[in-house]
Amino acid sequence: MTHYFDNAATTRPLKEALDAYEEVCLSHFGNPSSRHKTGFDASDILEESRRAILASLGVSKTHDLVFLSGATEANNLALKGAAFCYQNRGKKILYSPIEHPSVLAPIAQLSERFGFEAIPLKVDEKGLVSLEDLEAKMDKDVILVSVMGVNNETGTIEPISRIARIVHRFPKAFFHSDLTQAIGKVPMPFQDIDLFSFSAHKFGGMKGNGALLYKKTMRFLPLLSGGEQEKGLRAGTVDVAGAKAMAVALAEVEKSKASNLERMKILRESFVKKLLAIDEIVLNSPDESSPYVIDFSLSSHKASVVVEALSSRGYDVSSVSACSSKGEPSSYVLLAMGKDPRLAANPIRVSFLPSTKEEELDGFIDALKHILQEVRPL
Ligand code: PMP
Repeated sequence: MTHYFDNAATTRPLKEALDAYEEVCLSHFGNPSSRHKTGFDASDILEESRRAILASLGVSKTHDLVFLSGATEANNLALKGAAFCYQNRGKKILYSPIEHPSVLAPIAQLSERFGFEAIPLKVDEKGLVSLEDLEAKMDKDVILVSVMGVNNETGTIEPISRIARIVHRFPKAFFHSDLTQAIGKVPMPFQDIDLFSFSAHKFGGMKGNGALLYKKTMRFLPLLSGGEQEKGLRAGTVDVAGAKAMAVALAEVEKSKASNLERMKILRESFVKKLLAIDEIVLNSPDESSPYVIDFSLSSHKASVVVEALSSRGYDVSSVSACSSKGEPSSYVLLAMGKDPRLAANPIRVSFLPSTKEEELDGFIDALKHILQEVRPL
């Protein structure tokens, strides 16, 4: 039996979401753009899903939503789409250096190829963005500020409301936040954020579905053109079943968010205590981080070897992050937080669910202890 402890990479779809997906595929399979009964029926499901997501997050009055293929596309549309649309206002983009690659790469592209100025913000040893640095770097030429809600490697929760307040002193600047690891897990001040992104498969929806939510007054240059779907913001036939499954999964996780968070805090505390009893472990996640993501480093073993050995003993966890594990020798997130390069090269990320049992944690700790004794140290 495999104990899956990599829920920050992806989750098993919720039964409710899968049921909704199947129902839409079988009974409401039309193309929502078609001008006939089957199409109108699919379009009704799509609009109902849109309204449900906005309502689940409490932003029906202020925000609109575009259905996309996931957070990667949402981050790309948020950054490139807004930058191209508002470039006459200014050319500066501020961002935290510990963002996901799907934020960092579009910003790099905008600066290297399209004349924007990309300015990184300082982060401290916990991964928290420096508000003083943000205040110092904000000016009338800044059009976008991008800071994630919860870091996907360390679980660091950024001070989103305070960041938004600083950004909004400048009426021409928009605040984008990648909320992929926050949605359905930790409270976020959605109203304060001009545009935010997420993927459904991180909270029990399907892979290949996500959304960008944006203040109704905002405009974007679409990245995909060739159709009027999604108000012209994203050409291509929309995955109605995936959108509905995302709405259902979101409603489920939002409903139990508070109780799940309490359960996760207990799990985290117990796990961290057991973990830190092992000599060579250094915890990378700050105390007040999201309990859904726990990151630690090995001071004298190679993390990739240990992760492989853990998997063969039935515990699936992640070294660095699934997105950057190919070809990325060290965690740039940990390096930006000022961690020792040796520790930054050997991180392990564990992400449980509220349903994870205490016995599973014990089994994991035992397996880890055995492996650290068996595997040759660095
Ligand atoms: N942002 C963050 C913070 C993430 O954790 C991920 C997934 N690892 C993404 C964006 C990208 O999500 P997806 O691969 O579903 O597009």
